[in-house]
Amino acid sequence: MNKDKIWLSSPHMGGTEQKFVNEAFEQNWVAPLGPNVNGFEEDLKKYLFDSSSKEGAVAALSSGTAALHLALVMLGIKAGDEVLCQSMTFAASANPIAYQGATPIFIDSEEKTLNLCPKHLRTAIEDRISKGKKPKAIIAVHLYGMPYQVDEINAIAKEFDIPVVEDAAEALGSTYKGERCGTFAEYAVLSFNGNKIITTSGGGALVTKSQSAKEKAVFLATQARDAAPHYQHSEIGYNYRLSNISAGIGRGQMQVVDERVKARREMHEFYVVLFSEIEGVKVHSAPNDDFFSNHWLSVISFNEKKTGGINREDLRLHLEELNIESRPLWKPMHMQPVFKNAPFYGDGVAKRLFENSLCLPSGSNLTQEEKDRIKAGILSCFKEQK
Ligand SMILES: *Cc1c(COP(=O)(O)O)cnc(C)c1O
Repeated sequence: MNKDKIWLSSPHMGGTEQKFVNEAFEQNWVAPLGPNVNGFEEDLKKYLFDSSSKEGAVAALSSGTAALHLALVMLGIKAGDEVLCQSMTFAASANPIAYQGATPIFIDSEEKTLNLCPKHLRTAIEDRISKGKKPKAIIAVHLYGMPYQVDEINAIAKEFDIPVVEDAAEALGSTYKGERCGTFAEYAVLSFNGNKIITTSGGGALVTKSQSAKEKAVFLATQARDAAPHYQHSEIGYNYRLSNISAGIGRGQMQVVDERVKARREMHEFYVVLFSEIEGVKVHSAPNDDFFSNHWLSVISFNEKKTGGINREDLRLHLEELNIESRPLWKPMHMQPVFKNAPFYGDGVAKRLFENSLCLPSGSNLTQEEKDRIKAGILSCFKEQK
């Protein structure tokens, strides 16, 4: 099989990125600050908040992971604290808890959104409090672009007075009840890694509720330098700012973000149509009109009793042979060796999704020829079914 590889999700340049990068070179802004950093932050802020009555600010950072870490630092998470975290997610959601010496408490998913289950979240909070320790934060994730149950999660967070960190790394362009993901919590996190909906080659952002919180984040992200002619520090700082070169790529990408979301959603629709002809495979879709997903990745689940015994590994290996990449969902954190001692509250939803589901090629840059190859590949795997 010597056909070109079809990737799950690959970078997709819009055309103007290089202009911003060239400007940075021409003006010698080759540093982790400069006009592109400011411009990119302004673009993101407009995108998130212009259509909303809410206020906020954006700090461009070196990665989504750095943004999550700073969110926990800003919330004062310390060694020995407990932090609640969606179990089914990328390790980057949970690792910053460990950076702070805190303990992650993992929570199961619910079927509708694949995200944080409100019922298990409540059980976990009540149980941790009864054991003598109130959790200090909730990390909720809009997995694969699908918003979590924002109203339910926020209501529980408010009831127990625990701040939420919104991991919107995969959800730029998604909305819940018409408001953009990234605007629902005390702190929200975006990622611009190479495989995300838009990319800066590597980068991220922290979204805050106020300009002063943003300024504090930028202060911490630039080594926490006090106002003094010499280098003076009263707090531990980090080197987490985004490069002005990377931010130039981001400014170009922001000009095409809506087209990228549209193309990903078209890929999802492509799979909905394709699998409507196939028994026993469900394409995960928005539970109702409150949820608008960018469909960063399209996800399918298998019911082996109805597929005639064909399971997700059968399809994954079949596609691999055709040089088409697909991948199981994130392996839940409570099943990871590195977090084997962390408490978990749930009843097996995330584990089952991990075992019976698959992410399919979802890039915004897939050509008609590639879509034809994907379609033919999937149909040939299920041909025995007919
Ligand atoms: C990509 C991702 C991150 C981390 O972002 P980086 O920019 O790669 O550090 C965090 N959480 C989720 C859910 C992600 O998909």
